[in-house]
Amino acid sequence: MNALIIGAGPAGTSCAIQLLKAGIEVSILDKQHFPRSAPGETLHPGIEPLLKELDIWKEIEGFSFKRHPGIITEFRDSAKLDLYNQEGSWEGFQFPRDTFDQLLLDQAISLGAKFYSGSKITDVTLSSIGIATVFTNSGSFNASFFIDASGRNAVLPKKLGIRYKQQSTPLFVHFGYVESENTHSFSTPRMIWDADGWIWVSRISEKLISWNRLYPFNQKIAKNWLPECLQHLKPAGSHKAADVTWRIAENVSRSNYFLIGDAAFTFDPASSKGVLKAVMSGMMCGYLLGQLKLVKSDIKEIHAHYNTWMNDWFSNDLANMKNMYAEKGFPI
Ligand SMILES: Cc1cc2nc3c(=O)[nH]c(=O)nc-3n(C[C@H](O)[C@H](O)[C@H](O)COP(=O)(O)OP(=O)(O)OC[C@H]3O[C@@H](n4cnc5c(N)ncnc54)[C@H](O)[C@@H]3O)c2cc1C
Repeated sequence: MNALIIGAGPAGTSCAIQLLKAGIEVSILDKQHFPRSAPGETLHPGIEPLLKELDIWKEIEGFSFKRHPGIITEFRDSAKLDLYNQEGSWEGFQFPRDTFDQLLLDQAISLGAKFYSGSKITDVTLSSIGIATVFTNSGSFNASFFIDASGRNAVLPKKLGIRYKQQSTPLFVHFGYVESENTHSFSTPRMIWDADGWIWVSRISEKLISWNRLYPFNQKIAKNWLPECLQHLKPAGSHKAADVTWRIAENVSRSNYFLIGDAAFTFDPASSKGVLKAVMSGMMCGYLLGQLKLVKSDIKEIHAHYNTWMNDWFSNDLANMKNMYAEKGFPI
């Protein structure tokens, strides 16, 4: 039994580590070369036990990444710190994603994953006898299981016509970075709701602050736009935009494919749990396929379990997100 994973983000590499622990051979393809940058640096504290389970906790501690006890929400002239727990002792993380994703990838490679960077996929086929073939610019790959961890790009759904259920109006988030050496500013992430939507500002390292801007009604943004509170600082690079419309794939797994992380379902960054979901869904997929190999579980039961688990999770988050936006005056 072997698995081919498309995408070396946190979903793909967490899945790879679980599969390798169960003795399943893994190849990972990514179109980019690593380390590569990615948005999504504020991590929910719930990630800590998972990083311990993935055996990268020691390395994480070695980096002394920034931590925060909660998130400050500004709404209608008031600012409130929402702690992750009552005592303020359960702390989230700020991980520059190039370093974080590389740590996970290094762990997968050290356990035996074969990694092919700069691999562009040209075609995908799934055969009825349970073999997946992926054709790339660097040759073709066969595997008994095909795992799509390609993020919002969703390679497999595009190639195989798997549809998504869209659950929000089209949502685009704009994001960028500024340079700042005042290490105290924005060390606790801040969510600022205004008349047009929300702005997110958080320090991700000694030198960089990241910002996100989302207009629920899809307004355009000026090229050199910056949140008012950052206008005195120097932009680090140009800003970008990403489609973060809420959606879930009609089947998050079936036959011999699994969708994990953002390829399975997406919310906008206001959910602040995208990386947690990527790691958890990757680990769950790896665990279930491990059960298939080790205790010969029934593949139909595995698919039923994975689909129910992901759909229940999505439905809960959907209800929470709708409430949050409605409370702030943006019914989605
Ligand atoms: C602006 C913004 C801010 C965010 N902020 C947060 C935050 O603060 N906290 C949080 O938890 N989440 C946040 N998120 C969400 C978070 O970034 C994602 O949920 C998370 O990165 C998903 O991980 P993944 O492994 O599924 O996909 P990704 O991290 O997107 O990794 C996918 C990988 O697949 C590769 N790939 C894509 N297409 C192909 C292809 N055709 N062939 C081969 N490889 C391919 C890519 O190169 C990439 O390396 C944010 C998202 C955005 C857009």
